[in-house]
Amino acid sequence: MDNYFENIESKIPRGGFRTRFAPSPTGFLHLGGLRTALYAYLLAKKADGVLILRIEDTDRERRVEGAAELIFETLDAVGIAYDEGPNVGGPVGPYVQSERREIYGAYARRLIENGHAYRCFCDKESLDEQRLIHEASRVAHKYDRRCAALSAEEIEAKLAAGTSHVIRQKVAEGKTVFNDAVYGRIEVENSTLEDQVILKSDGMPTYNFANVVDDRLMGVTHVIRGNEFLSSTPKHVLLYEGFGWETPEYIHVPQIMRNATKKLSKRDGDAYFGDFIERGYLKEAILNYIALLGWSPGGEEEKFTLDELAQIFSIDGISKSPAIFDYQKLNWLNGAYLRAMSDDEYHTAALPYIKKVVTRDIDTRYVASILQGRCELLSEIPEQVDFIDAVLPHEPDLYENKKMKTDAAGALKVLPEVCAALSGLSAWDKDAIHAEITALVAKLEMKNGQVLWPMRVALSGKTFTPGGSIEICVILGKDETLSRLKAAIERLEKI
Ligand code: GLU
Repeated sequence: MDNYFENIESKIPRGGFRTRFAPSPTGFLHLGGLRTALYAYLLAKKADGVLILRIEDTDRERRVEGAAELIFETLDAVGIAYDEGPNVGGPVGPYVQSERREIYGAYARRLIENGHAYRCFCDKESLDEQRLIHEASRVAHKYDRRCAALSAEEIEAKLAAGTSHVIRQKVAEGKTVFNDAVYGRIEVENSTLEDQVILKSDGMPTYNFANVVDDRLMGVTHVIRGNEFLSSTPKHVLLYEGFGWETPEYIHVPQIMRNATKKLSKRDGDAYFGDFIERGYLKEAILNYIALLGWSPGGEEEKFTLDELAQIFSIDGISKSPAIFDYQKLNWLNGAYLRAMSDDEYHTAALPYIKKVVTRDIDTRYVASILQGRCELLSEIPEQVDFIDAVLPHEPDLYENKKMKTDAAGALKVLPEVCAALSGLSAWDKDAIHAEITALVAKLEMKNGQVLWPMRVALSGKTFTPGGSIEICVILGKDETLSRLKAAIERLEKI
């Protein structure tokens, strides 16, 4: 081994537990990608190891401007802290693959010397022709290896003439066997594998090659990723063998599905982390929920902080079967996180949603205190508080309630009494209003509902509101309450 490789390989960290999250910056962060990042983080944390973030951007055509930044921001927002990566550095960086071109070129040539790769000078026409022949004869297409047979002189001549070429992996004969912690022993006939391109004609590595070289040079001990990469793993294993390197532990996790047949999708708005934030989910709830997608903690408890997850996470709990996304559970968890917030936290979180529909000057803290515990999602708030600015348009039959034995006529009898009773109140708080209304109910010899139901309809134009009629009075304030009651009476008088 010459100095170049010795120098690089002497830096490989050894002896520790090292995982990595290796996203390609091709767009928004998919929920499945975030789950991979989370699992890699949890595995590293639990073992007191290191999490690496590596940006796999060698596919220039699929690269999306700003996607890497979005990954950094999202990981930061949810608290997945990596120990080595583009923004924090580390001993075996750079951690952006496009900045490591030279290394992949050197390793690809080393593989040629080892007899596990070769230069391929086939041009597009020649490759297309091979494909057509295979298609016509219904043979599964793969490169026919014609360049593997070139003599040293032929190669020299083509190189001297400056013929464009790629480097291909030379798949050995036999079988490739590896173990996956989730899927068990996997055995593949090498004859089914193609001599894939590892280095493109512009010197850029392909995903499979850069991924393997980096996992090795970065000392990665555990490769955790989605099971869509399971079928590429035999090629990776062959590359490790070609270099004479030991393979890492493989842990492939099942896909996240929307239901038994459909994956999460962009179109359904449930593929990306950002989609859920936009819909009013809390990042803690999303993170907690995706931890449970494909992994089970084994007990009844399902609400865990990131630190708690890091203590209990284990590879044994990962299941092979596809993880079906369950909105009910996510909503329940989200509600649980909302309920667990302090008054201040909840008020801060709810305020933008209250402000979406409320412009009146109200005690938002009081409103927030009523909402907390009633909404599973912050995005449900606007429809709960939409009556605060103005009574919702409604028909008189909204006053009708068979159970409470009341209707518009009943309301017309009761509301003036309510108005009179409340106008005399000097203190405007829940207890005072409650005492006044209770006294009125007793005086009128009615049931609570016969007074409270018409009040709610008159004050909100709705039959369901967060909090009862008395809370609505508190939210609206005395003047607004009385003016709404009077307006309701006037409307009822006209029918
Ligand atoms: N760059 C691959 C991706 O975007 C990484 C696969 C792996 O983790 O090995 O998902």
